[in-house]
Amino acid sequence: MQMVDLHNQYLKIRDEVEAAWAEVMDSGAFIRGKAVKEFEENLSRYLGGSRVVTCGNGTDALQIALMALDLHPGDEVITPPFTFIATAEVIALLGLKPVFVDVEERTFTLDVDKVEAAITPRTKVILPVHLFGQCADMEPLLEIARRHNLYVVEDACQAIGATYTFSDGTVRMAGTMGHIGCTSFFPSKNLGCFGDGGALFIQDEKLAGEAACIANHGSVQKYHHERIGINSRLDSLQAALLNVKLRYLDEYIRARQTAAAKYNQLLAGCDQLTVPQVAPHSTHVYHQYTLRLANSVDRVQVQAELKAAGIPSMVYYPVSLHLQPAFAFLGHQRGDFPVAEHLADTVLSLPMHTELTDEMQETVAKALLAAVNKG
Ligand SMILES: *Cc1c(COP(=O)(O)O)cnc(C)c1O
Repeated sequence: MQMVDLHNQYLKIRDEVEAAWAEVMDSGAFIRGKAVKEFEENLSRYLGGSRVVTCGNGTDALQIALMALDLHPGDEVITPPFTFIATAEVIALLGLKPVFVDVEERTFTLDVDKVEAAITPRTKVILPVHLFGQCADMEPLLEIARRHNLYVVEDACQAIGATYTFSDGTVRMAGTMGHIGCTSFFPSKNLGCFGDGGALFIQDEKLAGEAACIANHGSVQKYHHERIGINSRLDSLQAALLNVKLRYLDEYIRARQTAAAKYNQLLAGCDQLTVPQVAPHSTHVYHQYTLRLANSVDRVQVQAELKAAGIPSMVYYPVSLHLQPAFAFLGHQRGDFPVAEHLADTVLSLPMHTELTDEMQETVAKALLAAVNKG
């Protein structure tokens, strides 16, 4: 068994992918070709109209987003410490300061109630992460941002296709609620390509133009450079593949949701673990199916027993970012973000992908229940 099965997913769309790739190869336009423009338009339509600017990967999307906003060295960006390194890495890389705010234990996303206390005169951006596939609580976050005149950049790398429902009934896609949303097409992401890829979702036309310019060496007209940019682009072969896979994205999401419901049912009633909790304001697209183990459970032992039964499991993420050596310069210590630390010590992710069968899930659940009940 694997955490992610991309091969069997590919076999079902192989003919369509090969035809799309043959077209790109015949065209000879491998960079900024027709397929890229088509994909940007198709994804924009899927998202309900946000402008889509593709780029080289999700990390670049976050970097380009922060470069496109009017920020200065030392400006502060509020973000959770319980996420993949990329979220906070780009903040530091640009000479900005990551200011961590703890997460909620139930949803693993930014604890909105703790955000305002972290705002200073240097705060310019709130960067929530829609971790594991469900949206952070955007309505109160957007309200705080409005009140303090802050930008909101959403890390939607794990949540493409998830929706958030506002109190007035408005429904919006993950990544389209703040000023800029960022996503990744890393192969194992919910909409993954066969290499690296990423995109920004932007509401404002001018800001979208700025992001596209940054991603292309700060250039709009060839060999004329408006500003210092970077080289970050989605290539035509990846875009052609993504055009095919985008047509299946809702189906892929449903398969993940069905698998999650099945795990929930198989694991129900076990005091030693808590299945993923879905907040009422968001759907969950289950990039990961992540459990919380009771304190008394020895996670190392559980993983060893699963492995012995041929079942992979992963810990996303074993070390909260504020305790990573890379962020030692921020001067944090254990105890600063207790929820993130507790989650890092107790979470466990099970195999989750579009090709899971009932038998596989039953095997996983049986082995997991046996392992946690032993401890
Ligand atoms: C995958 C991911 C990224 C980075 O995307 P890449 O395409 O790998 O650069 C950033 N943030 C989160 C939360 C991610 O899961």
